[in-house]
Amino acid sequence: MKNTTHERALKSVMGKLGCSEEMSKLLDSSQREVIVEIPLKRENGDIKVFKGYRVQHSDALGPFKGGLRFHPDVDLNHFVSLASVMTWKTALVNIPFGGAKGGINCDPKELSEHDLEILTKRYIEKIGMLIGPNIDIPAPDMGTGEREMAWILQAYAKNHGHQPGVVTGKSEQLGGIVGRKEATGKGVAYFTKLACLREAIELEKAKVIIQGFGNVGQSAAINLEKLGANIVGISDRYGGVYNENGLKVESIAKMLGEMKNASLKDLDIDGEYISNEELLCAPCDILVPAAIEGVVNSKNADEIQARLIVEGANLPVTRDGEDILLNNNVKIIPDLLANSGGVTVSFFEWSQNAQRYPWKPEKVEREFERVLKNAWNNVCEVKECAKQTHSYREAAYTIAVNRVRETLIKRGF
Ligand code: NAD
Repeated sequence: MKNTTHERALKSVMGKLGCSEEMSKLLDSSQREVIVEIPLKRENGDIKVFKGYRVQHSDALGPFKGGLRFHPDVDLNHFVSLASVMTWKTALVNIPFGGAKGGINCDPKELSEHDLEILTKRYIEKIGMLIGPNIDIPAPDMGTGEREMAWILQAYAKNHGHQPGVVTGKSEQLGGIVGRKEATGKGVAYFTKLACLREAIELEKAKVIIQGFGNVGQSAAINLEKLGANIVGISDRYGGVYNENGLKVESIAKMLGEMKNASLKDLDIDGEYISNEELLCAPCDILVPAAIEGVVNSKNADEIQARLIVEGANLPVTRDGEDILLNNNVKIIPDLLANSGGVTVSFFEWSQNAQRYPWKPEKVEREFERVLKNAWNNVCEVKECAKQTHSYREAAYTIAVNRVRETLIKRGF
């Protein structure tokens, strides 16, 4: 994915920080990009060949870290951009990890649980030598969750023994940490609250639309509702539902959870069923894209009614879309800050696994707020110093790039 908001911010910040051409190349390129072929004989007898990917962008600050995405549309370019975003995200929140991303080009909804388990374990057979608790630590992303992390843990254990720190986002039974599943969406809600305070938006009176009702979208919706916001629109890949008086998101999430493979269209929700495109431009104060890349772009940015966009997904706004939004004075809380709650709690999980001693929920809560609040304050300080010429995105990249660059120089080449 070229020409993203991420690429632009990175280039601009490297220029402003006076990075040399070689240093810029180093910061911008992946350390390793791997594609593997995964043939699978399915339960029904068919043979299908999938492609698996792992891109390791940087381990300057610590082991590579990043999610695994199972989605039919992924390719190497996707993962190159997403791995780089991870490097800047972990650097921004100041946790000792680098950046990586990977996954398989499959549609998990079209595979049986048995096929999916074999596919996931085959993928680990192929890339197992590149991961490990001190090398590269995968986690959930689109299409993966606790179940896939358990399969990975098991596949990795075959050659390396029991190493719970090889993945994060596991169930608590397998060494996972309390609150990891909800952490990304909870962080999105937390940053929305802070952004509303700073931008003089009354969250308790605000109407919020959330695109994507998976792990991040559901948790963001539930936590924003708890903070008093009115969630007027939600959607999944098949379309959205809008009700200007508000949707009962907690009970919708519960109903979805109780039905296997269900989507919003299968439920009887009190609201108007509309398309994803219509939902993004429906009346609201705050928009949280929490699904896929590039959904806010030059075609719809001018129609967006929100005053604040909080990027729950990675790279949901295109570069052209961002130009239009900033011109319309729409504030954007960038992905590397907005959805950093997930990797932050992943870091707690990894430390807990290293200590072999579970963290108490109060400790997770306290440290979560401390890390996120610090990151927010740092971004606001840099933004202030730049006399508002910086967007939130540029301010966030300034901190992150500086940290990685300084560490690279200290470590030597
Ligand atoms: P998920 O698979 O749990 O949910 C994805 C949701 O998006 C589903 O509701 C799905 O139906 C919907 N969707 C898929 N394709 C769509 C389309 N074309 N249009 C509209 N909706 C569509 O995934 P997730 O873990 O919630 O991840 C969502 C986003 O958040 C991704 O960009 C991911 O990289 C990012 N993210 C996730 C985490 C995490 O902890 N899971 C952390 C940081 C960032």
